[in-house]
Amino acid sequence: MEKVQKTLIATLLLLTCCILLAAFSLGAFLPGWGWEKRLMIIFLIALSPLPLMILVFLLRTIKEHDEQTRRFATRDALTDLYNQHTFWDLLNYEIERSKRQQYRFSLMLVDIDNFKAINDRYGHETGDRFLRQFSVLFKNAVRKGDIPARYAGDNFTAILPLCDESQARTVALRLLESMRRYQLVLPGNESVQTTASIGIATFPDHAADAQDLYLLAESMMVHAKSTGKDRVSAPCEDVNIGTLKSAGAKSIMVMEAVRELRIVPYFQPIINVADNTVLAYEVLTRIVTADRVIPAAEFIDVAESMGAISKINSILMERSFSLANQNGYRGTLFINLSPKALMLADFLPTLRAQMTAHDFDPSRIVFEITERDAVKNPEAVKKSVNALRNEGFRFAIDDFGSGYATFHYIRLFEVDFLKVDGDFIRNMGGDGGMDRAIVMNIASLAGHLGIKTIAEYVESAEILSNVRSSGIQYAQGYFIDRPSPHMRNPAPYA
Ligand code: C2E
Ligand code: CA
Ligand code: CA
Repeated sequence: MEKVQKTLIATLLLLTCCILLAAFSLGAFLPGWGWEKRLMIIFLIALSPLPLMILVFLLRTIKEHDEQTRRFATRDALTDLYNQHTFWDLLNYEIERSKRQQYRFSLMLVDIDNFKAINDRYGHETGDRFLRQFSVLFKNAVRKGDIPARYAGDNFTAILPLCDESQARTVALRLLESMRRYQLVLPGNESVQTTASIGIATFPDHAADAQDLYLLAESMMVHAKSTGKDRVSAPCEDVNIGTLKSAGAKSIMVMEAVRELRIVPYFQPIINVADNTVLAYEVLTRIVTADRVIPAAEFIDVAESMGAISKINSILMERSFSLANQNGYRGTLFINLSPKALMLADFLPTLRAQMTAHDFDPSRIVFEITERDAVKNPEAVKKSVNALRNEGFRFAIDDFGSGYATFHYIRLFEVDFLKVDGDFIRNMGGDGGMDRAIVMNIASLAGHLGIKTIAEYVESAEILSNVRSSGIQYAQGYFIDRPSPHMRNPAPYA
């Protein structure tokens, strides 16, 4: 705008000068035709195209300015790729076109791995340079006619028209390959290199509208990240699509909750049945929505299958440590963890950083492991558990007795607690002779192995007294206290 104004003022000044000159020279014509008059006429003739030229220049500047404004509205200033706003316009347009002309297209979401570390270590200028270079690689990896965009920060998207999932995978693998070969060389011959995680979803196979397609591709990208980075994830090959379709609305709800950080910890006390003192609190995940608090039982399976569980865990741990400090709680927290999550490469570094930040010692944490996702590689679980044990973390086996794997776990690695499956505990009274026998045997087995036992689902005074007499040392359940957002001491109950 400034440029246009300046040019306009300059033009007006020049025009005024020209008019003044013209008037002056016309005046000079009247008395006679001396050499001054002739010179003036030559001067006038020489000046006459000038206003016209300035006018042309002015119009061109205005046009350029218009184009630039339009470009800034649709493009990202750093990389010159389309921006988020244009991406959504074009995605909606592509959905309509695909419906009308009945063809498939794919959406690819790319997140640069460890970009924050690059920014932190080398500064934002280098970070920006890296993003600019990446956008060149990105443009080269997609096909002519594809629509690459920078969504935000180090998140990029590409709409791939006329492209099914396997073709999209080829494009994504090409990008990963060029990332692996690329290095940004810095002064002093240091070089910056990283990988990317890519999620793919295809319309109309995986979603019915733009929003769902985006969320699914995003959850695939999170899946790629949480299963080791430097990889591509797509619904058909990496996740059971049937599960995703039936869980569609739920997975969207989970994705949104993760993005908006609406994941909160609830705490349920675990007490010593001998003296009713609080041993620890179990941390249970909740999603908070506008109208209710959703318990983990309703979304944890979906969160695991879509690969969002490690992000949830990380939010949860951060918040639990911070709340414990705020409440002046110096005791132990039991944290639920799927074996898959604990084997991820960045699990331990993230955890360590959070614990250092909140001055939390490993001896205050007990990880509860379930057999929810079948363990494909027991030796790898053993290695991860032992590495954590060496740092001072303790372990419990959750839902003990509910499946065969729970028995294998106690052979595989050392544990500190067995949490006896709530179904046995609940059914111990009345006709539950069998359940009572199972619970007593678990308590005796644990005693022999030097492992402590905890009873879940203690829902009544009667169950608590059965727990006491069966040899179990600790208990938790609605009768003692319900999970709550506070680390509170249970009210007197027995
Ligand atoms: P769980 O670890 O066996 O947790 C016990 C579940 O039973 C919790 O449900 C708890 O609210 C509920 N509960 C507690 N006392 C009673 C009782 O007396 N009676 C009955 N009927 N239920 C009781 P929630 O919070 O919905 O969690 C369900 C499951 O989701 C948990 O089962 C756990 O396996 C998983 N989960 C919860 N939070 C997390 C998490 O942060 N990460 C992972 N990986 N899994 C989690
Ligand atoms: Ca548990
Ligand atoms: Ca349990």
